[in-house]
Amino acid sequence: MAYLFVPGPVDVDPGVAMAQTRAMMPHRSAEFETLFRHAAENAKALFGTQYRVFISTSSGTGLHEAAVRNFSKERILSCVNGAFSKRWYDVATTNGKEADKLEVEWNQPITAEVVTEALKKQHYDLVTVVQNETSTGMMNPVDEIAAAVHAVSPDTLIAVDAVSSLGGAPMKMDEWGIDFVLTSSQKALALPPGLSLGATNDRALAYAETVPHRGWYFDLLRLEKHRIKNSTPATPAVSLIYALDVQLERILAEGIEARWERHKAMSERVHAWAAAHGFEMYAPAGYRSYTVSTVVNSHNLDIAALNKFLLQRGMRLSNGYGDLKNKTFRIAHMGEVHMEDLDTLLTAIEEYMAQ
Ligand SMILES: *Cc1c(COP(=O)(O)O)cnc(C)c1O
Repeated sequence: MAYLFVPGPVDVDPGVAMAQTRAMMPHRSAEFETLFRHAAENAKALFGTQYRVFISTSSGTGLHEAAVRNFSKERILSCVNGAFSKRWYDVATTNGKEADKLEVEWNQPITAEVVTEALKKQHYDLVTVVQNETSTGMMNPVDEIAAAVHAVSPDTLIAVDAVSSLGGAPMKMDEWGIDFVLTSSQKALALPPGLSLGATNDRALAYAETVPHRGWYFDLLRLEKHRIKNSTPATPAVSLIYALDVQLERILAEGIEARWERHKAMSERVHAWAAAHGFEMYAPAGYRSYTVSTVVNSHNLDIAALNKFLLQRGMRLSNGYGDLKNKTFRIAHMGEVHMEDLDTLLTAIEEYMAQ
């Protein structure tokens, strides 16, 4: 049973966790190359790409850095409506990149319209957007945003953070025309923390060749030179890749679309539960995350006391993020969480409220 209803790290299946204890192998070996290739090939389906998936030994934020360092030499449009999209903007500016923040209220989605308006005023070589704002439980319509970018500024690259959504909500990178999609291991993929995956199309890699000062560790062209030989420039987290390979097989066995549906059904369960118990949802209908639900604390519950009560039952949820602390609480239902786990949590919250 899953008991971590927090948005990462989340519960890891015991068999996946055990895979990490396999005997070590050198990364410069035929055995490792076979494993690496298998995992990287299987990962493509998750992103909906025919191109390539880089497996990076870093958390997802490392690939925020890769995106800005590889895909911009002119100016970045950073779409911001939460803590992680704000971080991506900070990553851009601290890397010395020119970036404009396109910020909307955190309880509002980034829409195709606002992105279109911004692109009409100024040319950008890169747009960054977070698909699933874990801080607020908002899901931005990245398919519509990508279509808008293609319509107004066809040469602009689009990079999407799918850290808390990949594997839990639809992603059709090639079909939607997204150039770079990144995710972390410890969220909807339900792996231990420490790995990130970044899918990149040919157009984006070709552009990277023209961008100076891409750095070393996150230079995607350097990674590509090694990736085609089923390896990495620096030592990868071999044990985590054992676990990744097992988990990708499990995800493909469940079915990627079935997995999206499982997460969607759990989010709908939370919406219905909230409505039945007099709670509002933070994100507007139509933009609510499939993997993390932010509930407005309409009854002024003591969230710390609620969590203490839940912990006695082996469960844990998340308080609201930053300024939303105590004003909201977050129920993550991603990865190994199934409907019966969620129902156990919701029943426990009801018991707490009935005390
Ligand atoms: C957790 C999270 C991040 C940061 O990922 P790390 O793996 O901790 O670097 C970035 N974006 C989103 C949407 C997240 O949920």
